[in-house]
Amino acid sequence: MAVGWSRDGAVQEQIEATVESAIQLARSRLPDGEGLYHCEECEVAIPEARRKALPGVRYCVRCQAELEKEQKTINLYNRRGSKDSQLK
Ligand SMILES: [Zn+2]
Repeated sequence: MAVGWSRDGAVQEQIEATVESAIQLARSRLPDGEGLYHCEECEVAIPEARRKALPGVRYCVRCQAELEKEQKTINLYNRRGSKDSQLK
């Protein structure tokens, strides 16, 4: 992996911009009605009870857990970003 092709600050900004647009994309794609019958990620059938409990659900339990792990990573980025702006 090549290091030094860009300044650190530029890389960090790029990462934050990517995360930000990913969140916006995810939000804009949130369904506001019925969920899916099959997981969008692995296509396993989503139990009816789960679909009723979580309107608009799109993933099975396993994929949802994976996504939540990723969201925790995104939150870490956000926390670091807001901490920097508070220090100004
Ligand atoms: Zn799945």
